[in-house]
Amino acid sequence: MFEKDIELAKQVRLNSYSPYSNYRVGACLRCKDGSTYLGCNIENHGIQGICAERTAFAKAISEGKRDFESIAIVGAPKGKDPIEKCLPCGYCRQFISEFVDDEFKFIVENNGEIITYTINDLLPNRFGL
Ligand code: ZN
Repeated sequence: MFEKDIELAKQVRLNSYSPYSNYRVGACLRCKDGSTYLGCNIENHGIQGICAERTAFAKAISEGKRDFESIAIVGAPKGKDPIEKCLPCGYCRQFISEFVDDEFKFIVENNGEIITYTINDLLPNRFGL
């Protein structure tokens, strides 16, 4: 399942709109009911863009989903294959932390090896109400 979600993330990465950074990111968010939501990064010259991870979460949340299992993330400069691991930015880590539990997995691939992280790995001692 992790491999499948990595592949879906690689596919949606090709839809990235990133003319400023030329860094394309794709994400596959898996809900506990088995449904998946894909997202890519979308940049904008006038205002802050949105990352692939938050695109996927926004799609799922707006469709009524609240129970999430994992998110596979891939990223690399345009024209290159995503080989090295791509982890969420600080903004996404805080955003995602509001919607996931301690079992939620961040899935990345690094030189062919799949690595998983929890929110506590990526954002320990985070802000929360
Ligand atoms: Zn981000």
